[in-house]
Amino acid sequence: MVQYNYPTTILLGTGALAEFAKRLKDKKHKKILIVTDAMIEKVGIVQKVADALSSLNIEYDVFSDIHPNPLEEDVEKGVIAYRAGACDSIIGLGGGSPIDVAKVIKVMVANPPPLSRYDDCQGGDRFITGPMPPLYAIPTTSGTGSEVGRSGVIIVRDTGRKTIIFHPELLPSIAVLEPKLTAGMPPFLTAATGMDAFVHCLEAYFVNMFHPMADGIALQGMELILKWLPAACKNGKDLEAREKMQIASSMGAVAFQKGLGMVHSMAHPLSSLYNMHHGLANAILLPDSMAFIERAKLTKEQKAKIKKVNSLFAECGIDRGSLSENCRAFVKKVGIKTGLVKYDVPESDAAKIGKEAVLDPCHASNIIPVKEKDFLTVLKKAM
Ligand SMILES: [Zn+2]
Repeated sequence: MVQYNYPTTILLGTGALAEFAKRLKDKKHKKILIVTDAMIEKVGIVQKVADALSSLNIEYDVFSDIHPNPLEEDVEKGVIAYRAGACDSIIGLGGGSPIDVAKVIKVMVANPPPLSRYDDCQGGDRFITGPMPPLYAIPTTSGTGSEVGRSGVIIVRDTGRKTIIFHPELLPSIAVLEPKLTAGMPPFLTAATGMDAFVHCLEAYFVNMFHPMADGIALQGMELILKWLPAACKNGKDLEAREKMQIASSMGAVAFQKGLGMVHSMAHPLSSLYNMHHGLANAILLPDSMAFIERAKLTKEQKAKIKKVNSLFAECGIDRGSLSENCRAFVKKVGIKTGLVKYDVPESDAAKIGKEAVLDPCHASNIIPVKEKDFLTVLKKAM
């Protein structure tokens, strides 16, 4: 017996924001807390959303005091803002971080501290019992897919580790994918977030589990990303490319309910130790991780999966003979320079990162088992 979970209402395309405001009006919330970050505010995206709400006399407060890799204190400040404004609902607006913070604020306005109590790895979801307010998500990047996910990731104070807070009700009730809100993303961020979405699809597809629905979505997601990410990087105003990347990003997150893999287990410590962008870390680690997998003794089914993904690359004109080399070519095509040392990760830290990677839960569902020494091998190559 298995349980398959499929998402939330998704509004996709030009006009999605206006449609969302209309639906929100019908909900008759007293006041909504918009959780975002300073950058989203600065580039005028908060204003666009605020205008859409104001045009229908919907009341809101804005909370934007959060870090790129969100911390427990960001959630605490958000809870204070929610209570101070007497809010009764939440919008997560921004990249993965504001949406993750919005989700965890939703938990913490209805459940007692400390946050570490709700760590999913410790079965913390069973303590999330309080009645939580409604949550909506408006992503402004196309990568994490947090808008269709049921978890938020926060760096917890006690451990300094990225910690997953999970609950089925953390799934936003409406995800708003309005292409113009992602049009201002610079090429580097477009590429890094897009590669995160790609790795979600790829690692989910590789998980050894019978889940044809997620596999179909993962394959379709990879196909969209291979076709449209280079276009979105080249011309950010290409709204068709933006729209395709938005839905592909949501698809990646739908697919990864199957699980992820070793790339994410190494990417997580790179963010918590060196504040590295999550998608960038995934992109850099992808080719050497795939080389590790390709060197292993694989089953017929596992080899067939690699062949299938390679065929998607070939359709987009990338045909380098191995999955690792195809990934390397694609990372280069979207303008990401590989080599961790280029991003101030000391070569001598490989062992330390490897130790943290083993502790990360994502590799439990990797296509083949990974040990600490394997992480070390891949990390040394990726330096
Ligand atoms: Zn990711």
